Amino acid sequence: MKDSCESCLMPFSKDPGKRESNKYCSLCYKNGELQYKGNDLKEFQRVVYKSMRSREVNPLLAKFYTFMIRFAPRWKHA
Ligand SMILES: [Zn+2]
Repeated sequence: MKDSCESCLMPFSKDPGKRESNKYCSLCYKNGELQYKGNDLKEFQRVVYKSMRSREVNPLLAKFYTFMIRFAPRWKHA
């Protein structure tokens, strides 16, 4: 049972949008495709951090969530 995004680890219960995929949250996967298509964990972390800050997530929490992304299934090999 998966209940969080395989790309950014956001719990689906916290997803602010409407999910299109059962693997990814509505921010990572939109309009039928992954929004960040690259393979660079650090770059993706920056994208996610900015996105969280724009949703007014507490900066310390945003840093923590961003750090945790490295453990998401999508980035395990990185
Ligand atoms: Zn996600």
